[in-house]
Amino acid sequence: MLKQTDGIQYASSSILESVDFISHGFLSRIGGISKPPFASLNFDMRDGDAVENVKHSKAIAGRLFGFGASRLLTINQVHGSDVLAIDKPVKDVSGLSKTSADAIITNQVSLAIGVLTADCVPILLLDPVKNVVGVVHAGWRGTAKTVVQKAIETMVKQFGSDTKAILSAIGPSIGPCCYKVDEAVIKEFGVAEFIKKQDNAWMLDLKKANFSQMLNIGLLEKNISIEDFCTSCRNDIFFSYRKDGKVTGRQLNFIMMREKGKR
Ligand SMILES: [Zn+2]
Repeated sequence: MLKQTDGIQYASSSILESVDFISHGFLSRIGGISKPPFASLNFDMRDGDAVENVKHSKAIAGRLFGFGASRLLTINQVHGSDVLAIDKPVKDVSGLSKTSADAIITNQVSLAIGVLTADCVPILLLDPVKNVVGVVHAGWRGTAKTVVQKAIETMVKQFGSDTKAILSAIGPSIGPCCYKVDEAVIKEFGVAEFIKKQDNAWMLDLKKANFSQMLNIGLLEKNISIEDFCTSCRNDIFFSYRKDGKVTGRQLNFIMMREKGKR
């Protein structure tokens, strides 16, 4: 469902909302100051947006969700399956932000961990028993490399999570309505229920592919929420790499554990 607070629109998971000690959101492109083609709530400078605009985006998100701009950790996303695990307090996120990885897992409170997307699938993870959170960036390459399973394996091996306790939220991404892929991509996946042939083209359902991977590794269906939005169909609300023509902004998808008792 889409929410609006202080001019920022964002999608929110009904499953994660039921947990009182976390903040999370799949932010939209609405509510910032960046100009086209980055309009307007852009969190990424890689395609040439001004530093001040991105700083502004971080500041308003931090104000709304309760984290300092220096407590938001995003990483160098490379369409791989490496996982950055953090089990010690982080004084300064800027050093860690250079890490090349596509997932972050942590048991640290007051550390907002995020991935930036424009069509790729953002996935938030929470183990409310062991108090561990995670965030995953899964485009077709990361999905083919089972990045979400690697992230969950890290939760299990390094933090003692039970997969049956893990809650997951799949955020807005390009849908099977718009995600036409070529033969080379299809070869990576083989025959699968998340690939359909339509008018002589292959359509890939990335959300469903990641949903299946999570079920296969032991998550319970009732513990996974999926936001229906297609970023390409709704590029009025979300950045879309395909629809916007490759030079575009990136939206923030984040999760954070608050100190117990604090809002
Ligand atoms: Zn679509």
